[in-house]
Amino acid sequence: MTAAPAPDPAPRAAAAPAAPGPALEVTGLVKHFGPVRAVDGVDLAVAEGEVLGLVGESGSGKSTLGRCVTRLVPVTAGSVRIGGREIARLSRHAIRPLRRGFNIVFQDPSSSLNPRLTVGDIAGEPLRQHRLGTAAQRRNRVIEMLDSVGLGSEVIRRYPHELSGGQRQRVSLARALVAEPALLVADEPTSALDVSVQASVLNLIARLQRDMGFACLFITHDLASVEYLAQRVAVMYLGVLVEVADRAELFERPRHPYTQALLSAAPIPDPAAQRQRRRVVLSGEMPSPVSPPPGCRFHTRCPVAVDRCAVEVPPLRPVGPAGALVACHLVGDDGTAPSL
Ligand code: SF4
Repeated sequence: MTAAPAPDPAPRAAAAPAAPGPALEVTGLVKHFGPVRAVDGVDLAVAEGEVLGLVGESGSGKSTLGRCVTRLVPVTAGSVRIGGREIARLSRHAIRPLRRGFNIVFQDPSSSLNPRLTVGDIAGEPLRQHRLGTAAQRRNRVIEMLDSVGLGSEVIRRYPHELSGGQRQRVSLARALVAEPALLVADEPTSALDVSVQASVLNLIARLQRDMGFACLFITHDLASVEYLAQRVAVMYLGVLVEVADRAELFERPRHPYTQALLSAAPIPDPAAQRQRRRVVLSGEMPSPVSPPPGCRFHTRCPVAVDRCAVEVPPLRPVGPAGALVACHLVGDDGTAPSL
């Protein structure tokens, strides 16, 4: 794949040079919508070229985190650094030239693609916005990018409604990646698609990530896709992170009781293993983010909660030899975890 075209010589907003650092670094991130505490103090980093899976039930705040990171919504408090540059408090105008460096794909491609634009215009939007290359170079780059996502150049004149859901999500990916961002936020990118095309879109994201080397914050409730795609996994519950670990470590030795419950509910392809596994059923619904429980936010549903859990917030701290981070009073510093 050739590189995205270079910028036109036309003047552009001057940007401060980036300090070296991870592709994404989030510190103390808070996002409240009025009384709703959707994200309530998250620290997270994604290294260059790394895929970090962010998992949690619906209502955990994971999609809001993705929207804060890409500054689609204003941040209430905390820091968001992309490529070493602080973007949490930049104005919409100041952030515009930096948007070449990061992009987002959403769950439902139908609502994120402008129905009045052709596929070619949609996929080429970032190149025009950032004044990259000449018109001919932009067209070539769009054709090349559409080819990379498995769409022939004949779709270039079609409109979104003429495509299938899977094809529309491929167009979303082409648009998100055409200007070669260093960071892609993928927010449940396969969950609105037919089951039959979910795997092919997931494979496509994996291949594009390998070929182009962008860092990816992959947000999903689907543990199987995280196990397939991510190098590290962060687990979110009611606005906070409860566990962050390398993929193998998390799937082999889940430590936080919430992670253990999530994994126990995920289907296993091997029927014998599935039969043998003990499923942990959590009682009740996730509490409202308007008034999260005091102490450990999970204590109202945790099967092994003790008195201390209702009053003392467990910090996210390193445990065990492999550098996992877990927020649970009952997980030992050596990584030993309560069994449910
Ligand atoms: Fe359960 Fe307590 Fe650990 Fe929270 S801190 S996960 S309530 S044991």
